[in-house]
Amino acid sequence: MATIKLEIVSPDKMVYAADIDMLIVRSIAGELGILPHHAPLVTSLVPHAMRVKLDGDEKLVAVGGGFMEVQPDKISVMASVAELPEDIDTDRAQRAFDRAKKRIESGKSGAEDINMVRAEAALKRAVARLTATGSHIE
Ligand code: ATP
Repeated sequence: MATIKLEIVSPDKMVYAADIDMLIVRSIAGELGILPHHAPLVTSLVPHAMRVKLDGDEKLVAVGGGFMEVQPDKISVMASVAELPEDIDTDRAQRAFDRAKKRIESGKSGAEDINMVRAEAALKRAVARLTATGSHIE
């Protein structure tokens, strides 16, 4: 079966590189499934857990946003932050989630002057990390 090269880099390191069967990502235009020989494409990614499919298995990679460039034989993800599940501190992500939720609530009620865009982005990063580790989110 044909494969496609995937490289995920964050500002400080190569997070993941492998020949894969398929990548499923969430872009600003919606969900995209990238198979080998995909047409060239550049898009922005939103914070989420990317799904890497290889050898009948699925691996999740948390990404905080960034860009993806697709060529027929290679996918390059340049992420603002990216982590493999084994590198994610779940307690820290849960604390970030709770903090962002609280900020958003107090912003909505007018109790505090909150930067909602920042709080929403922090919440999405936390959800991406908790999803990548298979943690329950509430
Ligand atoms: P926090 O409020 O916990 O710092 P954050 O979403 O603001 O979370 P980022 O700015 O996205 O954090 O990331 C800063 C650095 O910390 C990056 O190198 C990122 O990989 C790392 N990082 C953030 N949260 C976690 C986590 N839960 N587990 C492991 N590394 C993390």
